[in-house]
Amino acid sequence: MIMDKQTNILQDTFGREHTYLRISLIERCNLRCSYCMPEEGVQLSPKSHIMTYEEIYEIAKTFVKNGVTKIRLTGGEPLIRKDFPVVLEKLATLPVELSITTNAVIIDKFIDVLKTNGVKSINVSLDSLDKDKFKHITRRDQFEKVYNNILLLVKEGFKVKVNAVLIKNFNDNEIIDFIKFTKDLPVSVRFIEFMPFDGNKWDMSKMVSYKDVMQYVNASFSEENIERLQDAPNDTSKNYKIKGYKGSFAIIGSVTNPFCDSCNRLRLTANGQLKNCLFSSTESDLLTTLREGKSIEPIIEKAVRAKFKVRGGMDTLEKLQEPKLHNNNRSMTTIGG
Ligand code: SAM
Repeated sequence: MIMDKQTNILQDTFGREHTYLRISLIERCNLRCSYCMPEEGVQLSPKSHIMTYEEIYEIAKTFVKNGVTKIRLTGGEPLIRKDFPVVLEKLATLPVELSITTNAVIIDKFIDVLKTNGVKSINVSLDSLDKDKFKHITRRDQFEKVYNNILLLVKEGFKVKVNAVLIKNFNDNEIIDFIKFTKDLPVSVRFIEFMPFDGNKWDMSKMVSYKDVMQYVNASFSEENIERLQDAPNDTSKNYKIKGYKGSFAIIGSVTNPFCDSCNRLRLTANGQLKNCLFSSTESDLLTTLREGKSIEPIIEKAVRAKFKVRGGMDTLEKLQEPKLHNNNRSMTTIGG
């Protein structure tokens, strides 16, 4: 397919080129992670407000035409969308690298469809290696399914990253267990700093920082066995490996170590709103304009140019701790993590 690259509408005022689009396919999820979904539940969009597969394809095509080279599908839980295979098939016709972020509860049913459509890399969220803790945080008894599906994905040849959000006094005592999990398994475990979103009762004291993680690591492994790996361009994580281990580990320090300077990401919510930053409290409605039959490019350009230099304008930790600044944001489950 020949794509005409026109003026660069995906470059922001700080010179950052946005080549990576994360598309949320659905707001609903089959787990109920307490730090992600508010206790009282989330107000879901009416079905008619959710993008159809044709609309997802049309919007994605516009981004690809303008320079996006990578698309990640997320949610909610992307695999519980009924027409997930159709969405994937349509997107696979575009010249992009396709990947997915999932809780992996039902991914064993999708191995063939993922392979046929060229998905090679899969991020699986797993916050605990302890069955009871998993149940406590997700409010669902699905640990074994997820664990076995991670093993299955590795066996089937996918590149697997396991994402664990760390919460103080809940799973920080599992950091070393997670790293040991990479001894015989070629996966990358990525520890994510807990971030504030609408209704998730965030406070700084619950967060396990990059520095905290490294303290655990340094206390358990000798310096010469901890290898700092080269991070990929635009990587959000700092990557490490224990010498001799098949896998690696990484830390995503969105709060204490933001990676905004090299940010190349944009997000499209399941109801067709463009977010120029995970922390942004504003969004731009692409879906309504698409449904009116008009070009969405001017809206995309305006949204990209409005992107703040750091974390949606919350450029200091003090601002990040100001509830009214992030309570206008959505909950993570409706942004698409
Ligand atoms: N259902 C899929 C899954 O479980 O991976 C995709 C959506 S989920 C919202 C995407 C990622 O966001 C998960 O890895 C989840 O742990 C992460 N996440 C949700 N809330 C978060 C928060 N407050 N801080 C950091 N990460 C968060």
